[in-house]
Amino acid sequence: MPGFDYAPAPESRSIVDIKPSYGLFVSGEFVDPVDGTAFKTISPATEEVLAEVATAGPSDVDRAVQAARSAYASVWGTMSGRDRAKYLYRIARIVQERARELAVLESLDNGKPIRESRDVDVPLVAAHFFYYAGWADKLAHAGFGPAPQPIGVAGQVIPWNFPLLMLAWKIAPALACGNTVVLKPAETTPLTALVFAEICQQADLPPGVVNIVTGAGETGAALVNHPAIDKVAFTGSTEVGRLIAKAVAGTRKRVTLELGGKAANIVFEDAPIDQAVEGIVNGIFFNQGHVCCAGSRLLVQESVADQVLESLKRRMTQLRVGDPLDKNTDIGAINSAEQLDRIRRLSEIGSSEGAERWSAPCELPDRGFWFAPTIFTGVTQAHRIAREEIFGPVLSVLTFRTPAEAVEKANNTPYGLSAGVWTEKGSRILAMADRLRAGVVWANTFNKFDPSSPFGGYKESGYGREGGRHGLEAYLAY
Ligand code: NAP
Ligand code: MG
Repeated sequence: MPGFDYAPAPESRSIVDIKPSYGLFVSGEFVDPVDGTAFKTISPATEEVLAEVATAGPSDVDRAVQAARSAYASVWGTMSGRDRAKYLYRIARIVQERARELAVLESLDNGKPIRESRDVDVPLVAAHFFYYAGWADKLAHAGFGPAPQPIGVAGQVIPWNFPLLMLAWKIAPALACGNTVVLKPAETTPLTALVFAEICQQADLPPGVVNIVTGAGETGAALVNHPAIDKVAFTGSTEVGRLIAKAVAGTRKRVTLELGGKAANIVFEDAPIDQAVEGIVNGIFFNQGHVCCAGSRLLVQESVADQVLESLKRRMTQLRVGDPLDKNTDIGAINSAEQLDRIRRLSEIGSSEGAERWSAPCELPDRGFWFAPTIFTGVTQAHRIAREEIFGPVLSVLTFRTPAEAVEKANNTPYGLSAGVWTEKGSRILAMADRLRAGVVWANTFNKFDPSSPFGGYKESGYGREGGRHGLEAYLAY
């Protein structure tokens, strides 16, 4: 247990005004769905119902796509980049002004600690809009020819782990390039996207440039399959990514997919161990491990394995699991009952296949969805917990002797989104980065994001890049 106790330090939720129900955001207005159905979104920390949200059926999706088409043809596709930038800067500033409200709402709907929504998610959302606002009038200098053009209407589908941040990754570059969008947030985390719709109204964004359709997988499928969209951008599981790739094959639609991962976080014997332990913790326990690029496979050099594991366990006993709105909380709630089931199931498989399980001693709240930070040692490459994405606070620990063995084990995965290397040696960092088949390789750090830096995968982690100059490419015809 932690060496000392903290008094509760809850962030006030009075800053958010959650409406009892939300419609769909189409053509600049909140509208009721045609068939009038709705679903509830809950706080995963308490199971309290936060709001009712409309389900968009095929005719609602059609209406949203038509709104986006007409906004594209009449205003946004022909507006100068300089003028588009003004709207994006305005949105970025309003996000900053409403940052506390957005952070509290994100923590309520998603379960992530306020420390993260306040210090990571929301600042990065604003940074993303600022960054792409800067590109809007400079597209002719982005390396895509002298006069790159927008593509048209983008259908965008995002997951629940970074709801507002994934929205920003999708919407900011699309709008900067002159496209209009229809976005579907995840079923369990629609609320910050709906407040973002209010922000579009507040920024006087022309109606139809951004449309938000809420609902579950069927709504996403209706959007992806709509014949009048020009581009599909998807972040989510590899399983659904495959369905989408099949659905758009043979159509003129362009597609980018950001899918799952099973990243290796590699600790060499010359690494600064205390820093590496912080990096391991950040790599797998950040956002409850609901991170596609999480460092979910620790590869530690055999000579320091005992020392690293001892420090890691000591550090894990200090992690505070609980109320996402408490400013001292390190690990919040698991996003849904389904996700908790999946984490439990894979963890049980880990034990039954012979790996040794250790969980940090902590008291979990009675209500809501919780999972203690957990590590598995004695994991081999054949174990399912070394191969499949758990998407939760569970770390699989493997060891290696030589750099070549580390590379081979790290690359022995169907995924290739990210990796981490911990060592004092600069030359080793470069040599490893060269050999690791992963879109992002962090050196002596982990889970660092910046709008100027491209992000995306190899192999079954998807294709296309988001962020940076590279992120413009998916939204330009050139
Ligand atoms: P998911 O089931 O693939 O869902 C992602 C989104 O797609 C949700 O909005 C979902 O709707 C929607 N969807 C489901 N079925 C669909 C279909 N047939 N057609 C169109 N859309 C459909 O993934 P998730 O469980 O939400 O998220 C976890 C996964 O996402 C993990 O595997 C993780 O690695 C991956 N992820 C990847 C990245 C990245 O950048 N590479 C980032 C974050 C997460 P509903 O959920 O509302 O039903
Ligand atoms: Mg929710």
